[in-house]
Amino acid sequence: MKLSTQAVQVGLNWDGKTGAVTVPVYQTATFKHPGLGQSTGYDYSRSGNPTRTVLENGIAGLDGGARGFAYSSGMAAIANLLLLFRKGDHLIVTEDLYGGTYRLFEQIFRQYDLDFSYVDTSDVAQVEQALRPETKALFVESLTNPLLKAADVPRLSALCASRDILCIVDNTFLTPYLQRPLDLGADITVYSATKYLAGHNDTVAGLVVVKDPDLAEKVYFLQNSVGAVLGPQDSWLVIRGMKTLGVRLDRQQENAQQIAEWLDGHPQVRRVHYPGLPGHPGHALLQETARGFGAMVSFEVSDPSLVEKLLLKTELISFAESLGGVETLITFPEVQTHADILPEIRARLGINNVLLRLSVGIEDAGDLIADLAQAFE
Ligand SMILES: *Cc1c(COP(=O)(O)O)cnc(C)c1O
Repeated sequence: MKLSTQAVQVGLNWDGKTGAVTVPVYQTATFKHPGLGQSTGYDYSRSGNPTRTVLENGIAGLDGGARGFAYSSGMAAIANLLLLFRKGDHLIVTEDLYGGTYRLFEQIFRQYDLDFSYVDTSDVAQVEQALRPETKALFVESLTNPLLKAADVPRLSALCASRDILCIVDNTFLTPYLQRPLDLGADITVYSATKYLAGHNDTVAGLVVVKDPDLAEKVYFLQNSVGAVLGPQDSWLVIRGMKTLGVRLDRQQENAQQIAEWLDGHPQVRRVHYPGLPGHPGHALLQETARGFGAMVSFEVSDPSLVEKLLLKTELISFAESLGGVETLITFPEVQTHADILPEIRARLGINNVLLRLSVGIEDAGDLIADLAQAFE
C-alpha cells in the first residue's frame, strides 16, 4: 500500500458497533473497570486514550516503527526524548537547528549536565569528528530550517549504528510521505505535527515513532510519567489532517518549485535556498533518499529594506510563524524563529537580515507569485 492510501486508512472503520467512518473523540479522563484487577485496556487518559491510540498507531504505521507517541507539542516530544539521557551524556546536533530545540537544549538540558555539539550534519565527516566516548545520540533534522540543508540519513544512521549510539531524526519538514528515516536506518523519528502532519495551522502537537519495541517501552514510560500528552480533540484534528498529507504535499511541492524558480530569476533576489533547484547542495541526495524536496523556500533579498516590504505588503501570504499548513506564510527567521541562536552562529549559518522564509501552501501558484511580485514593486 502506498503511503497516501495508508494515511486515509488511519482510524477508518474503527468502530464495529456503529460503523462510524471516522474515529470518535473520546473526551474522557477516566474509564470504568469491568472488574477487580480488570481493565478495558484504558484506565486513565494520560496513560492512554482511544482517540490518541488511533493517532499513535497511525503514525507508527506511516513511519514503519514499533510504536508511536503523541505529545502536546513538538517541543514536548523532543523534551520527552531527551529524558532518555543521563548526566554527562553528549549529543551531536544539527547546527542550523529549529530555534526552540536549540533553546531547550542550551537553556534547559545543559543545566542537567547534558552536553551538545552543533555541527553541519549535511557533512557526515563533521559528525564523525564530533564523536566522543560519551556521545549517546545524534539529533538531526532531515531537512533544516531555514536553510534547507539535507542530511544523509542512510550514512548517518550507519555511522550511529557502528558506534552504538541513537540516531534521532526530526523529520518535520519531510514527513513520512517524503522520507521514512526508520527505513533508512534511524532509531527514532520526531515530528512537530503542528506543521505538515496536521497541516491546517489549527493545532499544536508532537509525535514520536520508535523502531525498536524495547526502546519504545522506555519512551512510553517517559510519556506516561511526564504526562505531556496530546488531548483527544487535538489527536482527532491531527488524524483528520494526516489523511490529506499526500495531496497537500504534492500540491505544496509543485507550488514551491514554481515559486523557487520564479524567485531565482528575480532581479531583487540574491539567492534562493530550495532543494528542488538543481544547484542546491542537497538536490542529488534528496533525489536518492526522499520522494521530494518539501515545500519550504528561503531566499535572500538584495536589500534589507525589502524585508519589511515583503512581510507587510503581501496580501494572500500572511506574515506569521509556523509552517506546513495549507496557507502560505512568510517569516523573517533572524527575528521571528531563530532569535535564540547566538548572533555569531546565525551569521555563520547565513541566517541574516535579508533572509526570508516561505512556507508554501496549496493556493494557486500563479496567485502566490503575483502576490510576491506586487509586494516587490
Ligand atoms: C515547529 C518545530 C518544532 C517544535 O514543534 P512545536 O509543535 O512548535 O512545539 C520542532 N522541530 C521543527 C523542525 C519544527 O519546525
